[in-house]
Amino acid sequence: MSSRRCSQPVCSRVAVATVTIDYDGRTMALGPLAPAETAEGYHLCNVHARRLTPAYGWRLIRHLELSGDV
Ligand SMILES: [Zn+2]
Repeated sequence: MSSRRCSQPVCSRVAVATVTIDYDGRTMALGPLAPAETAEGYHLCNVHARRLTPAYGWRLIRHLELSGDV
């Protein structure tokens, strides 16, 4: 089992969260790292997951609490 890396191009941290996007509902959901590679969603490290903000007109639902200092 290999660790997945953050989806941000310049970031090499290990991913800890998965973001899934519901385009119809204009909702982004941040949850625990998906157990397997999925076609949808992307993976973020602790830092980028905490920085994640929804685009204008979108909602962001956080399903997990991220702790720790950046
Ligand atoms: Zn990152």
